[in-house]
Amino acid sequence: MKVLFVSYEVSPIYKRGGLGDVAGTLPKILKSSGVDIRIGMPAYEGVAHPHMLPGTQIPMIYVDDPVVANVQKEKKIPAKASVGFAFFCQEILKKTKKLGFQPDIIHINDWHTGLIPFLLHAQPDPFFARTRVLLTIHNTKYQGIFRIKYLLDHPKTVGIGNLLYEPHKTYVNYLRTGVQEADYISTVSPHFASEIRHKKFGFGVGGPIRKRRRKFVGILNGIDYDEWNPKTDQYIDSFDAKTLTVGKAQAKLALQREVGFGDDLSLPVFGMVARIVQQKGFDILIPVLEKLRGKSVRIVILGSGQKNISSILEKIAQKYSNYAVRITYDEKLAHHIYAGSDFFLVPSIFEPCGLTQMIAMAYGTIPVVSRVGGLVDTVDDGKTGFLLKHHSEAGLVEAISCATDVYADSEKLITMRRVCMSQKFSWEKSAKAYLNLYTQMSKK
Ligand code: ADP
Repeated sequence: MKVLFVSYEVSPIYKRGGLGDVAGTLPKILKSSGVDIRIGMPAYEGVAHPHMLPGTQIPMIYVDDPVVANVQKEKKIPAKASVGFAFFCQEILKKTKKLGFQPDIIHINDWHTGLIPFLLHAQPDPFFARTRVLLTIHNTKYQGIFRIKYLLDHPKTVGIGNLLYEPHKTYVNYLRTGVQEADYISTVSPHFASEIRHKKFGFGVGGPIRKRRRKFVGILNGIDYDEWNPKTDQYIDSFDAKTLTVGKAQAKLALQREVGFGDDLSLPVFGMVARIVQQKGFDILIPVLEKLRGKSVRIVILGSGQKNISSILEKIAQKYSNYAVRITYDEKLAHHIYAGSDFFLVPSIFEPCGLTQMIAMAYGTIPVVSRVGGLVDTVDDGKTGFLLKHHSEAGLVEAISCATDVYADSEKLITMRRVCMSQKFSWEKSAKAYLNLYTQMSKK
């Protein structure tokens, strides 16, 4: 089985969110299951471009061109993003062909890669005649909706613009195009797939996905236990389920000192690591922070993203000493938060899969999460975490208070932590599901 895996971010080469984790891990597991796999991504300026995915024998295929050199940072500049990612889609096919790599499956991810199946169909090439395309949607909210004009106006994409052009059609939606043209569509958890089937969280692509419901499946992400493992984590003092109590206390002290909470370990610490966007639940978290100010909980938030939300969070943290907010992208601090917090907050409005709750559990940190998407598939209410009854301030306050009750009962706390640590969200299981799907697709 030959697979070309295409993503705009691939950890550890370039990562900003969960897609980077997935694109850096799933190919590794597929490779160890015997798949001949290559990864395609843009070559970004100032980012190292190793020939192989670090730590593996997986060859990387880069598209290296000025229009993609900074496109990862220009995602919000429509003219640049549309041209950059359309060009990327076309060039990755050309480069793959030039290398003589004839994939059975091209596994594309999110809107950035959505034009690939369209281009394959619009310009049939015998080289790709047997190639099938799987689109995995990691987030339905981001679709890449642009004026076709941008493509038509740029010499490098005018050809693609002409292929996409239809009279009276002003816009092209890259994700929707992918949904319509791919041979199969998946998303990153069974529960999120069922939400989309039930007309929730589709954000306009739900309808096109439902039209193809027989070719649509949810496969749960895993996490990379080579990276997220308190026993081998280079950023913290090692601990495991047996040395949990001492290990957590050490990690908590290190975290508290780092974020200015001091040495008193008596209060529960809630951590959060997330992109700072509406989706992640700041609509309820911000009022709850006001409500719980000066109360017996500490909360540390690490994230980067929308300025309006970030500045509100920073102001709250300046006012109240039981909160710490770091607006930056910081892998090391993220590891410290996963390891050193008692609880982990994921109050998302919607969550296709969510990795942070699974990572937290690996460190014996108990998640407090919304009742949506992959959070429902991964957190067992009362056993491995707390699910909000509903997405509201009251729902969040209640879940936090359930957590603090457990915190006050050391026996319950340690039992829950151990159960969390024993969960295995292994990629092997998901990789098997992808491999079955590839096999099924390539038979047709
Ligand atoms: P999403 O894909 O919506 O961003 P996920 O929960 O699937 O959310 O994945 C988020 C990943 O990005 C996790 O590995 C998390 O640790 C990481 N991450 C998010 N924000 C930051 C940050 N500011 N600093 C370090 N890591 C971050």
